[in-house]
Amino acid sequence: MTTRTTGNTTREVAEFLKGLQKAAVTTHTGADGDAIGSAIALLYLVRSLGAEIVFCYSEEVPSYLRWLLPDEPLLECPRDYDLLVVDTSRPDRVGVPRDGVHPVRLNLDHHEDNPLYGEKNLVDPLAAASAQIVASLYTELGVPLDRESAEAIYTGVSTDTGGFRFRNVSPEAHELVADLLRAGVVPAEIDARLNRTGTVEQLKIVGASLINVERYGEALVATVGKDDYERTGATELDSKESIDHLRTVAGVEVVAHLREIEGGTKGSLRSERVDVGEVARIFGGGGHRLAAGYTTPKPPHEAKEDLLRALKGVVNLRDGSGGGAG
Ligand code: AMP
Ligand code: MN
Ligand code: MN
Repeated sequence: MTTRTTGNTTREVAEFLKGLQKAAVTTHTGADGDAIGSAIALLYLVRSLGAEIVFCYSEEVPSYLRWLLPDEPLLECPRDYDLLVVDTSRPDRVGVPRDGVHPVRLNLDHHEDNPLYGEKNLVDPLAAASAQIVASLYTELGVPLDRESAEAIYTGVSTDTGGFRFRNVSPEAHELVADLLRAGVVPAEIDARLNRTGTVEQLKIVGASLINVERYGEALVATVGKDDYERTGATELDSKESIDHLRTVAGVEVVAHLREIEGGTKGSLRSERVDVGEVARIFGGGGHRLAAGYTTPKPPHEAKEDLLRALKGVVNLRDGSGGGAG
C-alpha cells in the first residue's frame, strides 16, 4: 500500500517507533471512531515492538467505542513518556493536558490543515483515515495484523468513510480492508458494535434534529438545544450522529448541525463539493474539506445567523426552495 506523506517518511517514523521505550498515545478531543481506532492500533503496534505503551485520554471515551480499549485510559500522560498523537489536526485539540512537559514526539494524521506540529510528522491528506496510516506502519515494520489490531483499523477506516461511501474512499483503502478481513474482521460484527448499541434517547434526539431542520436554498441547518435534550432525555453528545441523517435532500450543497453545549454551540458541517473546512476556520474550528467542525460561545440561534452569513458567499441561500436566510 502506498502512502503519500508530508513531513517524515513512513520509513523514518517506523525507525522512530522502534527506538521507543516508554510511550503514551492520545488523540483529539471529542473522539470518533478513527481517533480511538488509530490510537489503539498504534498502541498494539508499538507494544509488539517491545516498548511499554499506554493510552491516555482525559475525556470519557464514547460508549460505542469502549470495546476497542484494552485497558482503562489514563486521564493524563505519565511524565517521562514520549507522547504520540493521532488523528488530531492541531496541537490545541490534543485530548490530554500537556502542561508544557510533553512535546509531541509524533503527529500522525490525515487532516489537510495539519500544521506539522510534532517533532516527527506523518501526515497524509489522501489517507481515508489516520488508521490507514497506522496500517502502513504495520506493513513497513513487517508486523502482522492480528484480529484486535485489524478491528481497530477497520473501525477507523469504516467510520471516517461513512461506511465506505464518502469521497475519501480509494483503491488503497479497499485493498487494506481486504487484508483486515483476512486478519479476522467481520464487518457485520463491527457494524453491530458501532451502530446497534444506541439508546432510545439517541434515536429521539436524532428525530428532534430532523424535525428542527430548516432549508436555506442550498444549505440545510438543524439545531438542537436544551429543551430538545430535556424532551428526549438525551445528552448533547447523543445528537452528534444526527449530521449523517441530513445528507439526503436533493439540491443541498452544505449541511450543518448546531447543537447547544455548555457555554455555547458545537457546529458540524458536511458537503460533497464545498470547502466547509474553510467555513469552520472562520469560527476558529477546522477539519477536512468536506467534513469540518467548530465550537462557538454563542447560543444556537445566534450561531445559526453567523453561519448563514458565512455561507452567503459560498452557496446560494435563496433559490426559492426554502425559508429566507434573514
Ligand atoms: P465533527 O463534525 O465534530 O464530527 O468534526 C468533523 C471534522 O472536523 C473532524 O475531522 C474534526 O477533527 C474536525 N473538527 C471538529 N471540530 C473542530 C474544531 N473545533 N477545531 C478543529 N477541527 C474540528
Ligand atoms: Mn477524528
Ligand atoms: Mn480521522
